[in-house]
Amino acid sequence: MQIKTNASLKAYHTFGIEQSCSYLATIESLEEVTQLFQDPRFTHLPKLFLGKGSNVLFTEHFDGLVIVNRIMGKNVTETDDQYLLHIAGGEDWPELVSWCVSQGIGGLENLALIPGCAGSAPIQNIGAYGLELKDICDYVDVLDLTTFENRRMSARDCEFGYRDSIFKHALHEKCFITALGLKLAKQWQPINQYGPLKDIPEEQLSPATIFERVCQVRTEKLPDPAKVGNAGSFFKNPVITQDHYDRLMKQHTNIVAYPTPGGMKVAAGWLIDQCGLKGKSVHGAQVNPMQALVLTNMDNCSADDVVALASLVKQAVWDKYQIELEHEVRFLNRTGETNLAQVEALR
Ligand SMILES: Cc1cc2nc3c(=O)[nH]c(=O)nc-3n(C[C@H](O)[C@H](O)[C@H](O)COP(=O)(O)OP(=O)(O)OC[C@H]3O[C@@H](n4cnc5c(N)ncnc54)[C@H](O)[C@@H]3O)c2cc1C
Repeated sequence: MQIKTNASLKAYHTFGIEQSCSYLATIESLEEVTQLFQDPRFTHLPKLFLGKGSNVLFTEHFDGLVIVNRIMGKNVTETDDQYLLHIAGGEDWPELVSWCVSQGIGGLENLALIPGCAGSAPIQNIGAYGLELKDICDYVDVLDLTTFENRRMSARDCEFGYRDSIFKHALHEKCFITALGLKLAKQWQPINQYGPLKDIPEEQLSPATIFERVCQVRTEKLPDPAKVGNAGSFFKNPVITQDHYDRLMKQHTNIVAYPTPGGMKVAAGWLIDQCGLKGKSVHGAQVNPMQALVLTNMDNCSADDVVALASLVKQAVWDKYQIELEHEVRFLNRTGETNLAQVEALR
């Protein structure tokens, strides 16, 4: 196992911002996790697992051990009506989706090109184009970081919600996700209600055509982190009460929102766009001119620039709509998880 000291994190997160950590280990087996946790050099240090770093913002140096998950392997078995996939947590999610489509296994294609590792997918219950991980998740295998026992959790145990799961709450920092079980129906049903997928003629609908369309739309709409650093949607789509929505509708008749349990889910990108913030920048950090929900590392920005831009966006949306945006991107400080409000308070 390779362990680096005072390592740069720049290549390990998609924002591509220069930041460092005290130690960085890349693991290829489960035994290595136990070894690291029992190593006296690291016992008292904060520890952080990382997949592809596509949902994180390091706000400062991480004063601990970053563990990069590269545990690989996949296995497919079949029943009469389902494909059952067992995927090791370090497998690359976009490659997995593409591989399934090439093998004639449908059911993942709507989640094409979402960067990250398979083991990270349950954490925020990744979703796109009408499908969420919860819809196809059979189980999640975890290593309990207190007892070092392996445990299988059913999808129900994971308490999945909109960009949410038990791994952000009761099990936050308590377990390492080792593998994922997916169940995909052999009797494939297209999920094509979402805008650009509706246009595919019915006789042409297949996992491959949906996959290609999703890839095409995502490539056109979203900045490629390999070219412009970013962490995808920076904010979640906020849910507001029906009352609040009705009041806003009187003034903003074109508001983009959908009914959801608890009220109306408003398109955060639309709110930011309506505040005139597309293309707005703070030093090298920029609100993407094409997709306002994405904040980018346009020109060698610092984490402070992203924080300042995120604060500005949040304030503008609050002032105009009295809607509080919550960031989807995980903020990490010297010792672990933090959030925008805490970082702002220290500035
Ligand atoms: C261009 C772009 C587009 C995106 N589009 C979407 C989208 O359409 N839908 C969507 O839902 N998301 C989207 N995302 C967000 C991101 O792809 C997902 O959140 C993804 O699942 C993150 O995976 P990762 O491996 O990069 O996780 P990381 O960023 O490495 O980690 C995320 C969090 O999970 C923890 N973690 C990572 N691995 C483990 C593990 N094995 N066990 C325990 N904890 C762990 C980390 O400590 C961190 O807190 C997008 C991101 C980008 C950059």
